[in-house]
Amino acid sequence: MIRFPLQRRAGFCLVISAPSGTGKTSISHALLASDPTLLRSISTTTRPKRPGEIEGQDYHFTTVEEFRRIIDRDEFLEWAEVHGDSYGTPRGPIERAVRDGQVILLIIDVQGARAVKAIYPDAVLVFLVPPSLESLEQRLRGRGTETESAIQSRLAEAMHEIQQMTEYTYLVINEDGQQQRTVETLRAIIAAERSRISRWEGA
Ligand code: 5GP
Repeated sequence: MIRFPLQRRAGFCLVISAPSGTGKTSISHALLASDPTLLRSISTTTRPKRPGEIEGQDYHFTTVEEFRRIIDRDEFLEWAEVHGDSYGTPRGPIERAVRDGQVILLIIDVQGARAVKAIYPDAVLVFLVPPSLESLEQRLRGRGTETESAIQSRLAEAMHEIQQMTEYTYLVINEDGQQQRTVETLRAIIAAERSRISRWEGA
């Protein structure tokens, strides 16, 4: 029996994973700016702050000890070690967003995406890739924040992550100089996912 008008169902997690250097930070800023209803999960990390990063906006920066205490209090939805640092998704904002029918954006790695999918099977997983490995290397070097060995480790990690993209729902290529097009594609994915019949009560 379908009741009309339909009621919006619980919200969902939109997970974006991308090899380091793909441009996910500026793309997610542009995406969030283009859709004020979209929420963003702010991860907690033990990684040192990079120049220009803002506490509470890019990440919650914390110590190894405090990170451990947050794990002990079970306040992470998921957490993982990436490039030798710890990163975790605070549980509260995700649970609130999903309950309130909101879409919440998580910019996390493959391990995190897998964990979120296990908890929320209706999560939408987007894998964002650069057009080529050469382009990724250029972008990593251009950033100027990583040592040579960090760049090599991030390139190897990128190859490893790319092998796992079949676990994702969507693949989006961030072509060089085409950020706006990438944002439009992500907006189209969100619009389609919001319209999915299974997300509506009574349908
Ligand atoms: P970066 O240090 O370059 O900002 O991020 C390094 C990697 O950690 C990226 O792949 C990023 O998506 C991932 N990451 C950031 N926050 C989280 C999180 O809360 N959980 C997981 N699993 N990965 C995260």
